[in-house]
Amino acid sequence: MASSFAPKKSLGQNFLHDAGIAKWIADEIKPDGAPLVVEIGPGQGAMTTHLVGRAAKTLLLEKDNTLAADLKVKFEGREDVEVWHGDATRFDLRPLFKFGGVKVIGNLPYSMGGEILRHVLTPPTPVTEAVFMLQKEVCQRLAADQEDDAYGGLSLVVQHDWEVEIRRIIPPEVFKPRPKVDSAIVRLTPRPPGDLPVHDRAVFDRLVRMGFSQRRKQLKNLLPECPGGWDSLMGSLSKPLTVRAEELTLWDWVALTRHYEGRHEEDRGQKASEIFDVVDENNVVIGQAPRGEVHAKGLKHRAVHIFVFNKHGELWLQKRSHLKDVHPLTWDSSAAGHLDSGEDYATSAARELQEEIGISAPTRCVATIPACEATGWEFVELHVAEHNGPMKYAPDEIATGLFFRVEEIQAWIETRPQDFATGFIECFARWRKL
Ligand code: SAM
Repeated sequence: MASSFAPKKSLGQNFLHDAGIAKWIADEIKPDGAPLVVEIGPGQGAMTTHLVGRAAKTLLLEKDNTLAADLKVKFEGREDVEVWHGDATRFDLRPLFKFGGVKVIGNLPYSMGGEILRHVLTPPTPVTEAVFMLQKEVCQRLAADQEDDAYGGLSLVVQHDWEVEIRRIIPPEVFKPRPKVDSAIVRLTPRPPGDLPVHDRAVFDRLVRMGFSQRRKQLKNLLPECPGGWDSLMGSLSKPLTVRAEELTLWDWVALTRHYEGRHEEDRGQKASEIFDVVDENNVVIGQAPRGEVHAKGLKHRAVHIFVFNKHGELWLQKRSHLKDVHPLTWDSSAAGHLDSGEDYATSAARELQEEIGISAPTRCVATIPACEATGWEFVELHVAEHNGPMKYAPDEIATGLFFRVEEIQAWIETRPQDFATGFIECFARWRKL
């Protein structure tokens, strides 16, 4: 790399010049054999040297014109290295889902660290592990427990989805130019699905933001009036009425969120007692049976799938919740569900859109799919609708959701069919043929 290169403060360019530390950080992401490692801000390649060739593919995201051009020259002709020149906060992560595991590493520019973290770590994200170098103080906030001084809203919104561990403190001397403060390395691994009781993520974020807006103030003066009253909420959390935001753990905040949502029952998936119409091989109703029996005996029944497209022609996919009795944590149609006993397909489509993703939009039937193993012995009508979101989804049914380009979904199904509910794959293949 050209020695005349003048580091740009605006891009947070403090380059690592200690090869031992660079290798130590690269090893932290365990790149060997990984399907994809993404490095954010590779700069002059201090860590890149220790990453390239270890994962099946390495993707380098660099904003600086000169450095990106140098990296392109350096790795020209290598099929396992791709250099993307641009702002990492604008990089479209959606095409990365098809890799089935994405490790992200970066000695992040301090000025942009927060924005990069938010872009890469906020669900839904394809990222499955991350190692970042940031200012020590930021790392301490990310990793802080309720007893720590650094604990705050940032700790909670990140730890909601990630387990955070500070791995090492790095002194300023190993960078050129030297930053004014210590840095640290954090490793983030996803919190397992179902670790936290079900709750609405948007409500959690809103309450945390309000609660920490004035740290020293009592929480009851910062949060909206709560159903059933503050005293009973604090009683159920075994907290004093005067509690402050920083005195509640992540689990307390989730319990508080559930209380605001009026969610008092234990988490459960579908009711095995729901009654469906059972049909014969011609889709004619021959009786009724509860959900549990229909699935256990493989009885033929009816379901509707709805594909919701936005104005760009992208299709919104839902990721099924961990509580689903079939195909948990796989990607599925925008909304889908069984017809209630006596219900027709169009009525069911409108109901599912409302119940599952909180929208109302006209739907149109575009295909029918006969009952088969892939559909779970369901006679399916596929409906389409148009809506630009946002979706307000039921968290016990849907873990997350996102609009994807149709071509991307096709490529993803081809590489990782196991990521999808089989009924969706059937519907998507049928829709592609229209
Ligand atoms: N990884 C190198 C190292 O350890 O020596 C460089 C680290 S330096 C702290 C941050 C790097 O991120 C620089 O190369 C800078 O040009 C790049 N950068 C700054 N903002 C960026 C952004 N928004 N997207 C991608 N890269 C960015």
